[in-house]
Amino acid sequence: MSRVLVVGLGGTIAMTGSAGVVPSLTAQQLVDAVPGLPGDLEVHSFRNKPGASLTLTDLTDLADLIRQSSATGTVITQGTDTIEETAYVLDLLHTGPEPIVVTGAMRNPTLAGADGPANLLAAVTVAADPAARDLGCLVVLADEIHAAARVRKTHSMHVATFASANGGPLGYVVEGRPRLVNRPVQRYTLPSAPTRESVRVGLCTATLGDDGTLLRTVAEQVDGLVIAAFGVGHVPESWVPHLAEAAARIPVVLASRTGAGYVGTDTYGFPGSERDLLDRGLIPAGSLDPYKARLLLHLLLTTTANPAQIRAEIAAAGA
Ligand code: ASP
Repeated sequence: MSRVLVVGLGGTIAMTGSAGVVPSLTAQQLVDAVPGLPGDLEVHSFRNKPGASLTLTDLTDLADLIRQSSATGTVITQGTDTIEETAYVLDLLHTGPEPIVVTGAMRNPTLAGADGPANLLAAVTVAADPAARDLGCLVVLADEIHAAARVRKTHSMHVATFASANGGPLGYVVEGRPRLVNRPVQRYTLPSAPTRESVRVGLCTATLGDDGTLLRTVAEQVDGLVIAAFGVGHVPESWVPHLAEAAARIPVVLASRTGAGYVGTDTYGFPGSERDLLDRGLIPAGSLDPYKARLLLHLLLTTTANPAQIRAEIAAAGA
């Protein structure tokens, strides 16, 4: 018999109210609204926040709770705004075979066609199924099963907002059963548990005509930096001296702001191109998008200050 831990963090799935919805329903209330959930459920209201206010400490505490649980799978209900980030953090921290499935809702419970109950049912169905073991953290919404390392929120309001541009979903929930059509070729987890040590990692997005002044200001105040670059990894030429200076001092990761594909390493040669930036010490993010690269760099910086190790871990995660 599967035992599923259901943990509520808040989000639209739990929001009600007449003057703008706010997190209010407990995890038990969410579960009670869906008759026939499979498995033996253990239900826990852990936080009651909008997704935007969740913190890395919330997630490391949650990972500890999951580690201490004897459940065969876990479902997290939370705000969809940050699922692409929270699910990736849980994926990095969770080394066990038990599935962690993150879900939420795009339509709150006061709206016609609220999607929370169907998403919760699909998420528990996946978490209770042995087929979901050894896949790390999954995101299940609108009957699609996504890998945490690839998934992104792609629409501000549609119920089918989650997509995995690199490789597509891992599978679907069909007539109440998970059907996997892909398996990730690798599973990357952090080499050691993060400490609670506070580090600050900045994220700067390259934009047309930016003169680099803000980039320089940010770079002076952080322990690590991620660049959301144009295309395969390009920035304005005016950014190059600031990035070269920063990369000599702190890890600077080069990611693409496009939302899909890999950062290039060996194509363009102009100042501010990916080859130029990598020659100046930036670290390529591979397939990791800027948000996921930022979280990985943050967690790595709490475990090591060794530049070669940070570079190797990012290469492994973004392979
Ligand atoms: N729109 C969000 C959601 O779908 C709100 C949040 O992230 O809390 O849950």
